Amino acid sequence: MSTPFESMLRGPDAYAMARRALEEMEAASLWPTPLNFELWLHYLAEPEGALAREMKRLLSTGDPFTEATSDLLAAEYLPRGRMTEEIRDAGRVLDRELSSVTEAISRAHRSNADYGRTLEGAATQMASADDAPQLKSIVAGLTRATRRVQTENESLEKKLEVSTGEVARLREHLQQVRRDSMTDGLTNLANRKAFDEHLASACSDAETQCERLALAVLDIDHFKRFNDTWGHQTGDLVLRYVASVMGRVAADPRIAARYGGEEFALIFPRESLGQVETALEMVRKEIASRQLRRRSTNDDLGTVTISAGFAVRRAGETASSLLERADTALYASKHAGRNRVTFADSLDQAA
Ligand code: GH3
Ligand code: MG
Ligand code: MG
Repeated sequence: MSTPFESMLRGPDAYAMARRALEEMEAASLWPTPLNFELWLHYLAEPEGALAREMKRLLSTGDPFTEATSDLLAAEYLPRGRMTEEIRDAGRVLDRELSSVTEAISRAHRSNADYGRTLEGAATQMASADDAPQLKSIVAGLTRATRRVQTENESLEKKLEVSTGEVARLREHLQQVRRDSMTDGLTNLANRKAFDEHLASACSDAETQCERLALAVLDIDHFKRFNDTWGHQTGDLVLRYVASVMGRVAADPRIAARYGGEEFALIFPRESLGQVETALEMVRKEIASRQLRRRSTNDDLGTVTISAGFAVRRAGETASSLLERADTALYASKHAGRNRVTFADSLDQAA
Protein backbone atom coordinates (compact mmCIF):
# COMPACT_ATOMS: atom_id res chain seq x y z
CA MET A 1 0.00 0.00 0.00
CA SER A 2 1.36 3.41 -0.84
CA THR A 3 1.26 6.42 1.46
CA PRO A 4 -0.57 9.64 0.45
CA PHE A 5 2.92 11.10 -0.14
CA GLU A 6 3.89 8.32 -2.56
CA SER A 7 0.54 8.53 -4.36
CA MET A 8 0.99 12.26 -4.73
CA LEU A 9 4.47 11.84 -6.22
CA ARG A 10 3.09 9.41 -8.80
CA GLY A 11 -0.17 11.25 -9.32
CA PRO A 12 -1.16 13.65 -12.10
CA ASP A 13 -0.76 16.69 -9.81
CA ALA A 14 2.86 16.03 -8.91
CA TYR A 15 4.18 19.10 -10.79
CA ALA A 16 1.44 21.34 -9.48
CA MET A 17 2.25 20.17 -5.96
CA ALA A 18 5.95 20.78 -6.47
CA ARG A 19 5.20 24.33 -7.64
CA ARG A 20 2.91 24.89 -4.67
CA ALA A 21 5.59 23.62 -2.31
CA LEU A 22 8.00 26.21 -3.74
CA GLU A 23 5.40 28.97 -3.47
CA GLU A 24 4.60 28.10 0.13
CA MET A 25 8.30 28.11 1.04
CA GLU A 26 8.72 31.48 -0.65
CA ALA A 27 5.72 32.87 1.23
CA ALA A 28 7.34 31.73 4.48
CA SER A 29 10.69 33.29 3.35
CA LEU A 30 12.32 29.90 3.35
CA TRP A 31 15.17 28.67 1.25
CA PRO A 32 14.02 25.64 -0.78
CA THR A 33 16.71 23.24 0.40
CA PRO A 34 16.15 19.60 -0.66
CA LEU A 35 15.07 18.81 2.89
CA ASN A 36 12.63 21.73 3.10
CA PHE A 37 11.25 20.74 -0.28
CA GLU A 38 10.67 17.22 0.96
CA LEU A 39 9.04 18.50 4.16
CA TRP A 40 6.72 20.78 2.18
CA LEU A 41 5.72 18.00 -0.18
CA HIS A 42 4.76 15.88 2.80
CA TYR A 43 2.93 18.87 4.23
CA LEU A 44 0.86 19.22 1.03
CA ALA A 45 0.28 15.48 0.66
CA GLU A 46 -1.12 15.20 4.16
CA PRO A 47 -2.26 18.64 5.30
CA GLU A 48 -3.90 17.19 8.39
CA GLY A 49 -1.04 14.83 9.26
CA ALA A 50 1.13 15.12 12.36
CA LEU A 51 4.02 16.67 10.41
CA ALA A 52 1.80 19.31 8.78
CA ARG A 53 0.25 20.17 12.14
CA GLU A 54 3.68 20.63 13.73
CA MET A 55 4.90 22.71 10.78
CA LYS A 56 1.83 24.97 11.01
CA ARG A 57 2.41 25.36 14.72
CA LEU A 58 6.07 26.27 14.25
CA LEU A 59 5.31 28.72 11.44
CA SER A 60 2.61 30.42 13.50
CA THR A 61 5.09 31.21 16.29
CA GLY A 62 6.88 33.57 13.91
CA ASP A 63 10.25 32.14 14.98
CA PRO A 64 12.75 31.65 12.18
CA PHE A 65 12.46 28.24 10.61
CA THR A 66 16.13 27.22 10.68
CA GLU A 67 17.99 24.29 9.18
CA ALA A 68 18.02 22.81 12.68
CA THR A 69 14.22 23.08 12.78
CA SER A 70 14.00 21.19 9.49
CA ASP A 71 16.47 18.58 10.74
CA LEU A 72 14.46 18.05 13.91
CA LEU A 73 11.23 17.73 11.94
CA ALA A 74 12.83 15.28 9.53
CA ALA A 75 14.28 13.25 12.38
CA GLU A 76 10.94 13.05 14.08
CA TYR A 77 8.55 12.67 11.17
CA LEU A 78 10.53 11.39 8.18
CA PRO A 79 12.98 8.84 9.56
CA ARG A 80 11.03 5.78 8.60
CA GLY A 81 10.77 6.94 5.00
CA ARG A 82 14.51 7.54 4.84
CA MET A 83 15.30 4.30 6.60
CA THR A 84 13.05 2.38 4.22
CA GLU A 85 15.05 3.65 1.24
CA GLU A 86 18.32 2.59 2.86
CA ILE A 87 16.90 -0.74 3.90
CA ARG A 88 15.54 -1.35 0.42
CA ASP A 89 19.01 -0.67 -1.01
CA ALA A 90 20.56 -2.98 1.55
CA GLY A 91 18.02 -5.65 0.65
CA ARG A 92 18.95 -5.37 -3.02
CA VAL A 93 22.67 -5.76 -2.28
CA LEU A 94 22.00 -8.74 -0.04
CA ASP A 95 19.81 -10.36 -2.71
CA ARG A 96 22.53 -9.92 -5.30
CA GLU A 97 25.23 -11.31 -3.05
CA LEU A 98 23.16 -14.26 -1.96
CA SER A 99 22.17 -15.27 -5.47
CA SER A 100 25.74 -14.98 -6.68
CA VAL A 101 26.94 -17.19 -3.82
CA THR A 102 24.12 -19.69 -4.33
CA GLU A 103 24.98 -19.91 -8.02
CA ALA A 104 28.68 -20.46 -7.27
CA ILE A 105 27.84 -23.16 -4.74
CA SER A 106 25.59 -25.05 -7.12
CA ARG A 107 28.23 -24.83 -9.85
CA ALA A 108 30.80 -26.23 -7.44
CA HIS A 109 28.30 -28.90 -6.45
CA ARG A 110 27.77 -29.91 -10.07
CA SER A 111 31.46 -30.09 -10.82
CA ASN A 112 32.06 -32.16 -7.66
CA ALA A 113 29.38 -34.62 -8.82
CA ASP A 114 30.97 -34.73 -12.29
CA TYR A 115 34.31 -35.35 -10.63
CA GLY A 116 32.88 -38.24 -8.63
CA ARG A 117 31.58 -39.79 -11.81
CA THR A 118 34.94 -39.26 -13.55
CA LEU A 119 36.70 -41.02 -10.66
CA GLU A 120 34.30 -43.94 -10.76
CA GLY A 121 34.72 -44.25 -14.51
CA ALA A 122 38.50 -44.12 -14.13
CA ALA A 123 38.44 -46.85 -11.48
CA THR A 124 36.46 -49.13 -13.78
CA GLN A 125 38.74 -48.37 -16.72
CA MET A 126 41.84 -48.99 -14.63
CA ALA A 127 40.59 -52.38 -13.54
CA SER A 128 40.42 -53.47 -17.16
CA ALA A 129 43.43 -51.49 -18.50
CA ASP A 130 46.27 -53.69 -19.61
CA ASP A 131 48.91 -51.39 -21.06
CA ALA A 132 50.83 -48.25 -20.14
CA PRO A 133 49.42 -45.85 -22.84
CA GLN A 134 45.89 -46.71 -21.71
CA LEU A 135 46.81 -46.01 -18.04
CA LYS A 136 48.52 -42.78 -19.08
CA SER A 137 45.41 -41.52 -20.84
CA ILE A 138 43.25 -42.42 -17.79
CA VAL A 139 45.61 -40.48 -15.48
CA ALA A 140 45.64 -37.51 -17.90
CA GLY A 141 41.82 -37.50 -17.81
CA LEU A 142 41.89 -37.57 -14.01
CA THR A 143 44.38 -34.69 -13.85
CA ARG A 144 42.16 -32.55 -16.09
CA ALA A 145 39.10 -33.30 -13.97
CA THR A 146 41.01 -32.50 -10.77
CA ARG A 147 42.15 -29.15 -12.18
CA ARG A 148 38.62 -28.28 -13.23
CA VAL A 149 37.35 -28.97 -9.71
CA GLN A 150 40.21 -26.98 -8.19
CA THR A 151 39.45 -23.98 -10.39
CA GLU A 152 35.78 -24.20 -9.54
CA ASN A 153 36.55 -24.34 -5.81
CA GLU A 154 38.93 -21.41 -6.05
CA SER A 155 36.32 -19.34 -7.81
CA LEU A 156 33.78 -20.26 -5.13
CA GLU A 157 36.23 -19.21 -2.45
CA LYS A 158 36.82 -15.86 -4.16
CA LYS A 159 33.08 -15.27 -4.54
CA LEU A 160 32.57 -16.01 -0.85
CA GLU A 161 35.36 -13.65 0.10
CA VAL A 162 33.93 -10.80 -2.01
CA SER A 163 30.44 -11.43 -0.65
CA THR A 164 31.62 -11.56 2.95
CA GLY A 165 33.32 -8.19 2.46
CA GLU A 166 30.25 -6.74 0.79
CA VAL A 167 27.96 -7.95 3.58
CA ALA A 168 30.32 -6.57 6.25
CA ARG A 169 30.33 -3.17 4.50
CA LEU A 170 26.56 -3.29 4.30
CA ARG A 171 26.25 -4.05 7.96
CA GLU A 172 28.52 -1.14 8.86
CA HIS A 173 26.51 1.15 6.61
CA LEU A 174 23.23 0.11 8.20
CA GLN A 175 24.70 0.65 11.65
CA GLN A 176 25.71 4.15 10.56
CA VAL A 177 22.22 4.82 9.21
CA ARG A 178 20.76 3.68 12.51
CA ARG A 179 23.19 5.88 14.47
CA ASP A 180 22.33 8.88 12.27
CA SER A 181 18.62 8.33 12.68
CA MET A 182 19.09 8.40 16.45
CA THR A 183 21.39 11.42 16.62
CA ASP A 184 20.56 15.09 16.65
CA GLY A 185 22.41 16.70 13.74
CA LEU A 186 23.22 19.98 15.48
CA THR A 187 24.47 18.76 18.84
CA ASN A 188 25.34 15.11 18.23
CA LEU A 189 23.38 14.14 21.32
CA ALA A 190 20.67 11.48 21.18
CA ASN A 191 17.60 12.89 19.41
CA ARG A 192 13.97 12.76 20.51
CA LYS A 193 13.37 9.36 18.95
CA ALA A 194 16.44 7.88 20.67
CA PHE A 195 15.49 9.58 23.92
CA ASP A 196 11.99 8.03 23.83
CA GLU A 197 13.52 4.59 23.24
CA HIS A 198 16.17 4.99 25.95
CA LEU A 199 13.66 6.24 28.47
CA ALA A 200 11.20 3.41 27.76
CA SER A 201 13.91 0.79 28.13
CA ALA A 202 15.38 2.47 31.23
CA CYS A 203 11.89 2.45 32.81
CA SER A 204 11.38 -1.21 32.02
CA ASP A 205 14.85 -2.11 33.38
CA ALA A 206 14.19 -0.10 36.54
CA GLU A 207 10.89 -1.91 37.01
CA THR A 208 12.19 -5.45 36.48
CA GLN A 209 15.43 -4.95 38.44
CA CYS A 210 13.77 -2.80 41.14
CA GLU A 211 16.40 -0.18 40.50
CA ARG A 212 16.42 3.57 40.91
CA LEU A 213 15.94 5.76 37.84
CA ALA A 214 15.96 9.55 37.66
CA LEU A 215 15.06 11.80 34.77
CA ALA A 216 15.98 15.46 34.36
CA VAL A 217 14.76 17.96 31.79
CA LEU A 218 16.73 21.12 31.13
CA ASP A 219 15.72 24.21 29.20
CA ILE A 220 17.76 27.25 28.23
CA ASP A 221 16.45 30.40 29.91
CA HIS A 222 15.13 33.26 27.77
CA PHE A 223 16.64 31.69 24.71
CA LYS A 224 14.25 33.49 22.41
CA ARG A 225 15.69 36.76 23.67
CA PHE A 226 19.23 35.48 23.02
CA ASN A 227 18.30 34.53 19.46
CA ASP A 228 16.59 37.85 18.89
CA THR A 229 19.67 39.71 20.07
CA TRP A 230 22.45 37.65 18.50
CA GLY A 231 20.75 35.75 15.69
CA HIS A 232 19.82 32.12 15.24
CA GLN A 233 23.22 30.99 14.04
CA THR A 234 24.87 32.20 17.20
CA GLY A 235 21.96 30.60 19.08
CA ASP A 236 22.83 27.32 17.40
CA LEU A 237 26.41 27.61 18.68
CA VAL A 238 25.06 28.08 22.19
CA LEU A 239 22.92 24.96 21.77
CA ARG A 240 26.07 23.09 20.83
CA TYR A 241 27.93 24.48 23.80
CA VAL A 242 25.15 23.52 26.24
CA ALA A 243 25.04 20.07 24.65
CA SER A 244 28.80 19.68 25.06
CA VAL A 245 28.57 20.43 28.79
CA MET A 246 25.79 17.88 29.14
CA GLY A 247 27.67 15.36 27.04
CA ARG A 248 30.62 15.65 29.41
CA VAL A 249 28.60 14.65 32.47
CA ALA A 250 26.67 11.98 30.60
CA ALA A 251 29.12 9.09 30.82
CA ASP A 252 27.60 5.62 30.44
CA PRO A 253 25.04 4.61 31.73
CA ARG A 254 23.73 8.18 31.73
CA ILE A 255 22.12 9.40 28.53
CA ALA A 256 21.99 12.99 27.34
CA ALA A 257 19.47 13.95 24.68
CA ARG A 258 18.19 17.00 22.85
CA TYR A 259 14.54 16.38 22.93
CA GLY A 260 13.18 19.68 21.65
CA GLY A 261 14.48 22.96 20.20
CA GLU A 262 16.31 24.26 23.29
CA GLU A 263 15.23 21.49 25.60
CA PHE A 264 17.45 18.71 26.80
CA ALA A 265 17.09 15.64 28.96
CA LEU A 266 19.37 13.50 31.09
CA ILE A 267 18.53 9.94 32.09
CA PHE A 268 20.24 8.68 35.24
CA PRO A 269 19.90 4.92 35.72
CA ARG A 270 20.87 3.46 39.11
CA GLU A 271 22.05 6.65 40.81
CA SER A 272 21.43 8.18 44.18
CA LEU A 273 19.55 11.42 44.60
CA GLY A 274 22.81 13.07 45.68
CA GLN A 275 24.66 11.99 42.54
CA VAL A 276 21.88 13.25 40.29
CA GLU A 277 21.65 16.57 42.07
CA THR A 278 25.43 17.06 41.99
CA ALA A 279 25.57 16.34 38.24
CA LEU A 280 22.74 18.75 37.46
CA GLU A 281 24.19 21.50 39.64
CA MET A 282 27.51 21.00 37.89
CA VAL A 283 25.89 21.49 34.48
CA ARG A 284 23.91 24.51 35.67
CA LYS A 285 26.91 26.21 37.31
CA GLU A 286 29.30 25.51 34.46
CA ILE A 287 26.91 27.01 31.91
CA ALA A 288 26.02 30.03 34.03
CA SER A 289 29.65 30.84 34.75
CA ARG A 290 30.86 30.79 31.17
CA GLN A 291 31.33 34.18 29.58
CA LEU A 292 30.29 33.55 25.97
CA ARG A 293 32.15 35.19 23.16
CA ARG A 294 31.56 35.09 19.41
CA ARG A 295 34.94 34.20 17.98
CA SER A 296 34.36 35.63 14.51
CA THR A 297 33.52 39.16 15.73
CA ASN A 298 34.84 38.96 19.29
CA ASP A 299 31.42 40.15 20.53
CA ASP A 300 30.79 39.58 24.20
CA LEU A 301 27.53 37.62 24.30
CA GLY A 302 27.16 37.64 28.06
CA THR A 303 26.03 34.44 29.74
CA VAL A 304 23.18 32.00 29.32
CA THR A 305 21.57 30.00 32.08
CA ILE A 306 19.53 26.85 32.17
CA SER A 307 16.68 25.72 34.38
CA ALA A 308 16.18 22.09 35.24
CA GLY A 309 13.67 19.82 36.88
CA PHE A 310 14.08 16.20 37.82
CA ALA A 311 12.04 13.35 39.18
CA VAL A 312 12.85 9.91 40.55
CA ARG A 313 10.73 7.12 39.12
CA ARG A 314 8.15 5.61 41.43
CA ALA A 315 7.44 1.87 41.34
CA GLY A 316 5.15 1.09 38.41
CA GLU A 317 5.40 4.61 36.96
CA THR A 318 5.25 5.01 33.16
CA ALA A 319 7.81 6.95 31.13
CA SER A 320 5.30 9.64 30.25
CA SER A 321 4.28 10.19 33.87
CA LEU A 322 7.92 10.44 34.91
CA LEU A 323 8.57 12.93 32.10
CA GLU A 324 5.54 14.94 33.11
CA ARG A 325 6.71 15.20 36.71
CA ALA A 326 10.22 16.23 35.64
CA ASP A 327 8.61 18.84 33.35
CA THR A 328 6.48 20.21 36.18
CA ALA A 329 9.64 20.55 38.27
CA LEU A 330 11.30 22.38 35.36
CA TYR A 331 8.41 24.84 35.21
CA ALA A 332 8.70 25.38 38.93
CA SER A 333 12.36 26.33 38.36
CA LYS A 334 11.25 28.80 35.68
CA HIS A 335 8.62 30.36 37.92
CA ALA A 336 11.00 30.60 40.84
CA GLY A 337 13.33 32.80 38.79
CA ARG A 338 15.21 30.38 36.45
CA ASN A 339 18.87 29.26 36.65
CA ARG A 340 18.05 26.57 39.20
CA VAL A 341 17.37 22.87 39.63
CA THR A 342 14.12 21.61 41.20
CA PHE A 343 13.41 18.13 42.50
CA ALA A 344 9.83 17.02 41.78
CA ASP A 345 9.32 15.60 45.28
CA SER A 346 10.08 18.99 46.84
CA LEU A 347 6.95 20.31 45.10
CA ASP A 348 4.79 17.53 46.57
CA GLN A 349 6.10 18.43 50.03
CA ALA A 350 5.43 22.12 49.47
CA ALA A 351 1.88 21.48 48.23
P1 GH3 B 1 12.10 30.32 28.91
O1 GH3 B 1 13.14 30.84 29.82
O2 GH3 B 1 10.74 30.44 29.48
O3 GH3 B 1 12.41 28.94 28.46
O4 GH3 B 1 12.11 31.27 27.64
P2 GH3 B 1 12.58 30.91 26.18
O5 GH3 B 1 12.65 32.17 25.39
O6 GH3 B 1 13.81 30.09 26.21
O7 GH3 B 1 11.42 29.96 25.71
P3 GH3 B 1 10.47 29.95 24.48
O8 GH3 B 1 9.84 28.59 24.49
O9 GH3 B 1 9.58 31.15 24.45
O10 GH3 B 1 11.42 30.06 23.22
C1 GH3 B 1 12.30 29.05 22.88
C2 GH3 B 1 13.18 29.60 21.82
O11 GH3 B 1 14.17 28.65 21.45
C3 GH3 B 1 12.43 29.89 20.55
C4 GH3 B 1 13.43 29.66 19.46
O12 GH3 B 1 13.87 30.89 18.97
C5 GH3 B 1 14.59 28.96 20.15
N1 GH3 B 1 14.97 27.76 19.44
C6 GH3 B 1 14.31 26.59 19.37
N2 GH3 B 1 15.00 25.72 18.58
C7 GH3 B 1 16.10 26.37 18.14
C8 GH3 B 1 17.19 26.02 17.30
O13 GH3 B 1 17.30 24.90 16.77
N3 GH3 B 1 18.16 26.96 17.08
C9 GH3 B 1 18.08 28.20 17.66
N4 GH3 B 1 19.06 29.07 17.41
N5 GH3 B 1 17.05 28.57 18.45
C10 GH3 B 1 16.09 27.67 18.69
MG1 MG C 1 13.73 28.17 27.11
MG1 MG D 1 11.54 25.57 25.87
